[in-house]
Parts: sequence; structure tokens; C-alpha cells
Amino acid sequence: MKVVIIGGDAAGMSAAMEIVRNNKSAHIVVLEKGDIYSYGQCGLPYVINGKVPNTEELIARDVEEFRSKYDIDARIFHEVTSIDTKLQKVSGHDVNSKEPFEFAYDKLLIATGAAPTMPRLENADLKGIHMIKTIPQMNKLMEQLPNVKHVTVVGGGYIGLEVVETVRERGLDVRLIHQGSQLMSVLDPELAKIIYEEAISKGVDVLLNEETIGFEGEQVVEAIRTKTGTYPTELVIVATGVRPNTQFATGFAKLENGALIVNEKMEASIANVYAAGDCASHYNRLKQQDDYLPLGTTANKQGRIAGLNIAGFNQKFKGIVGTSILKFFDLQIGMTGLTNDAADKSNALIEAYVMEVNDIASYYPHPSKMKLRMLVEQQSRKLVGLQIVGKHGVDKRIDVFATALYNEMTFEELLDLDLAYAPPFSGVWDALMQAPKRYGKKN
Ligand SMILES: Cc1cc2nc3c(=O)[nH]c(=O)nc-3n(C[C@H](O)[C@H](O)[C@H](O)COP(=O)(O)OP(=O)(O)OC[C@H]3O[C@@H](n4cnc5c(N)ncnc54)[C@H](O)[C@@H]3O)c2cc1C
Repeated sequence: MKVVIIGGDAAGMSAAMEIVRNNKSAHIVVLEKGDIYSYGQCGLPYVINGKVPNTEELIARDVEEFRSKYDIDARIFHEVTSIDTKLQKVSGHDVNSKEPFEFAYDKLLIATGAAPTMPRLENADLKGIHMIKTIPQMNKLMEQLPNVKHVTVVGGGYIGLEVVETVRERGLDVRLIHQGSQLMSVLDPELAKIIYEEAISKGVDVLLNEETIGFEGEQVVEAIRTKTGTYPTELVIVATGVRPNTQFATGFAKLENGALIVNEKMEASIANVYAAGDCASHYNRLKQQDDYLPLGTTANKQGRIAGLNIAGFNQKFKGIVGTSILKFFDLQIGMTGLTNDAADKSNALIEAYVMEVNDIASYYPHPSKMKLRMLVEQQSRKLVGLQIVGKHGVDKRIDVFATALYNEMTFEELLDLDLAYAPPFSGVWDALMQAPKRYGKKN
């Protein structure tokens, strides 16, 4: 069986490894347009503040290992530009030599991820304007960072915030420019305000409601221009979202943003073609429809399932519930389930419980407050979503709640959970139990 995989990172190589382990007759070719395989993209921001010493540390397995140890025909600088789904072959060219190539497949996996979007901005080609997605991009940024004292970050979503934190921790002055009226637009405004205050307290210059229109400078960026003003800076990092890399895949069913629509077996809309990760749709269990939430966890999971199915199994991706977490200076920001917007759009009536609770027993040293907002479907009492901002213990509450969402538990059933308790870890009624204990229905 000839298997071709396009894209050599999380989804693509998770799939490749499952095929290697489970189908000895498969001949696997991986076509990767860069020269780096299997790296931890999520760790890139931490190279800036030195928590990760260099980008090399992020590489889990290098291309030679895939070739020699697993007998995978792992190509580098091979960019795919088209797929002929009738003749079952992909074609493209070598990025450096422009030499064309063509590979026939019995099964094809598209795992090309997503590319950061650069909004249409004036003078975006000036030196000193960066995006963070790949190791070469990060290496370029790290070459220039020692020469600057002031950085502007455009975009107050999770990658923008991670970058703001790490640049500031490097000792540089940071300005954050965000188009919306609050940081982390998916969060409830009350919780987003805590993040804003954290940024200000750490000396970040935050500009909200500012639409960036371009840059100024001769060859190197010297200022950033918004609709309201012009702000001097020495380096800019743009983090304004991503778009699936699927332009070359024509004739397939896609979401509005271009993500390839896949079924639970990770099959795309044309026979013998699979897709997984940031270039594919992600079925949302709560919305009961295809969604798009490009995260490393999902890319690895979907890649694994695609690989197992290509290898001959019948595995199903059960869907996401929308879980994510982020560290921002001293804050932990976690969310799972429907966001406010999605809850507003749902037909069901949703109740919101907002509380400030301790992370550990109040009498034990150093308890800290976390603010949580729990969404519950009024009629069925089913849990719908949770957002938490706090200093400690957010991760475990979000993960417990995500498990509860996956299992379609109700608000009141949170009280039945047998959660671990000792004073250094939680209150005798855990933070997640406070709302149902106080507001839950009693029979
Ligand atoms: C700064 C940053 C921080 C992040 N932090 C987190 C986090 O904390 N938690 C989390 O869950 N997720 C995080 N993510 C997201 C996570 O990294 C991605 O969801 C994950 O890498 C997606 O994996 P993928 O294999 O689908 O795509 P990618 O990792 O993007 O890999 C796709 C590969 O396909 C190649 N390719 C693209 N087009 C072609 C083509 N035409 N021909 C050949 N090859 C091609 C690319 O070069 C690339 O190597 C972060 C992302 C970034 C950028």
C-alpha cells in the first residue's frame, strides 16, 4: 500500500508512526515543505524568555530518525501544489531547486496545518516584522531580539499574550495592540478584565480598540500605525490568527475558512483522502457540528486516528469540547465548552454562575482566589461551559470539567464527584462544587 502524507509535524507524523507500527506492508512517503519534522510549536514562545534554551530542544524526532529507524521516506523542501484525486497522485516542486515531483498514492493524508495570517497592512515587508509559527521564523526573531529594547505585539489572543509575557520577561518594553475591546475575545468581559489588569501590573502598555493599518520605516520598522495614532517601536510580532493550508486541495468540501471537512474516521470528502490537525475540521460534541479550534492536542489525536484507519482499523474521533489553557504572567486562564457567543447562539436557555472561590483550604497558607464562570443549560441542567482565571489550580478544574462535559454531566452531578481533597490542594468542597452546592436544584 502506497501512503503519502503531506506535512511532517504533529498530525502527519502521529499518523505516520501509527501506520509504521500497525501495517508492515505500507510504504510511507512524507512530503514536507520545510526541513524540520515533529517539533513542539507550542514551546516556541518560551525560547524568547529562555525557559526553552533554544529551538533545537523543541524537535522531538529529526528527519534522519524517521528515515533510518522507521523506514519512512521522509522528504524535506517538498511543497505539494496539487492533488489529482482521480489518478490518485500528488505533485509539487522542491522549494529550493524548483525541480518538480509527483507521487502516486493508495491512501493520502493531508496534514498541512495552518499559516498565521498577516492582515493587509501597509509596509508589511519592512524588516523587523515577525510572525511565530515555525522554528526558522523563531530563529530569525531570536537573531534580532538582542538588538532591540522595544517590541510591539499585534493581537491579544492566546499566542499574542504568550509572546507579550515572554518578551517582557526578557526585560524588554512591550506594547500590545488589540483591535477588540478586551483581551482574549472568547472570554467573558469580567474575566478578560483580570487579564488586562495583570498586563498593566507587569508594565505592559496595552492599547485596546486600536486597528493596526500599517508600519513606518525606511528598511527596518520604526513605528506602527493604527487608525488612532503612530507608535514608535523597534520590532513587531503579529499574532492575529491562522488560516488552514488547503489552497492546493481543490474539489474538497471545506468549512468557510478553508478547513477540510472530515468525518469521524478523518476521511475528507473524496475517496482515499484523509485530513487531520489544523488543516481539518474538528467536530464539536457540544455544538454537534463541525468546528475549527486548531490545537496541538487535537492535531495529535486526529493524526493518530487517521493513521490507524489508514493502517486498516476502524477508529473514530469522538470530537472536541473546546478545552484550552494559557499562562499569562502570574495568571492561569482556562476554558472549556461553549464560549459566551456560542451559548448566545444556541437555542437553549443558558444560565451563568459567576463566583470567586479559593483554590485551596482558606486556612492553609497562601490560598488564592480564582474567578470562574460556569454555564448550564437551564432546562436539562447539563453543563455547557466553564471559564476560569486564577493564579493556581485552574488546570485541574478545567480538566475535570472537560471530562464532565465529555460525559454530558449535569450541574448537580458535579456534587457527586469523588474528587481528591486535602487542605493544600482544595477546599473540602472543591472550587467546582461551590456553584452547584449553593445554586443547584434539590429534589
Ligand atoms: C506559538 C504557538 C503556540 C501554540 N501553543 C499551543 C498550546 O499551548 N496548546 C495547543 O494545544 N496548541 C498550541 N499551538 C497549536 C499547535 O502548535 C498546532 O495546533 C499544531 O502544531 C498543529 O499541528 P499540525 O500537524 O496540524 O500542523 P503543523 O504543526 O502546522 O504542521 C503542518 C506541516 O505541514 C507543512 N506543510 C504545509 N503546507 C505544505 C505543503 N503544501 N506541502 C508540504 N508541506 C506542507 C508545514 O511546513 C508544517 O510542517 C500553538 C501554536 C503556535 C504557533
